[in-house]
Amino acid sequence: MPRESKSARARRLSTILDRLSIAYPDARVGLDFTTPFELLIATILSAQCTDERVNQVTPNLFAKYHSPGDYLSVPQEELEADIHSTGFYRNKARNIRACCTRLLDVFSGEVPHTLDELTSLPGVGRKTANCVLSNCWDIPGITVDTHVTRIMNLLGIVSTKDAVAIEYALMDLVPQERWNSMNHLIITHGRKTCIARRPQCSTCSIRDLCPSAIP
Ligand code: SF4
Repeated sequence: MPRESKSARARRLSTILDRLSIAYPDARVGLDFTTPFELLIATILSAQCTDERVNQVTPNLFAKYHSPGDYLSVPQEELEADIHSTGFYRNKARNIRACCTRLLDVFSGEVPHTLDELTSLPGVGRKTANCVLSNCWDIPGITVDTHVTRIMNLLGIVSTKDAVAIEYALMDLVPQERWNSMNHLIITHGRKTCIARRPQCSTCSIRDLCPSAIP
C-alpha cells in the first residue's frame, strides 16, 4: 500500500473530525470546574486518574479550598487525605502546594495565560497547560492525553507515543481553529467508542477511515 502523503492525511483527519462532530455534538471537557484555578487543580489531579473520579473529589475539595493560599494553609497530610482517592496523592499534594506557592510568588495568585508561564508551574506539563488555555480562554492548544495518543496511532495519523511529537504533528495537520474542538472530539471518541482494549469498531462512525478497524 503506498505511503499516505501529508496532505492526504490532513484531508482524512479533517473528514474524521467532521464525522466525530456529528457523532458527538455535545463533546466538551470532562472535568468539572468554574474557574481557571479549579481547572488547573482538577487537571493536576487527573494524571493517572479518570475524569469521573476527579469529579467525585472536586466538589468537596473546591468547597474547602478557594485560593492558592488555602492549599498552603493546611498540613500536607490533610491535603493528601482530601485527594486520596485520585491516586498518587502524595506526589499530587506536593505538586499542588508547590504550584500554589509559585502562583502566589510569581503570578500574584492568578493563573497565567501563556504556555510558557503555565508550564513553569510545578506539576504542570504541556497537556495540563493546553487544557487550561483552551478551556478557560479559548486559546488554541492541543491536549495530548492517553486517548489522543492511542487513537491517533490507531488511525495511522502518527506512529509515536511521544506526546510532544504528537502535539506538533497535529499542529501541522489541523487548522488552528479546530484544535480545541479536536481535543474534545477525540477524547470523547476514546471514552465512548474507541475504548482502550475493546474498541467498538462495528459501530464506529469513522471505521472506513481507520486502518486499524477490526472487521
Ligand atoms: S474503527 Fe475501531 S480502532 Fe478505528 S477508530 Fe473506530 S473504534 Fe477505533
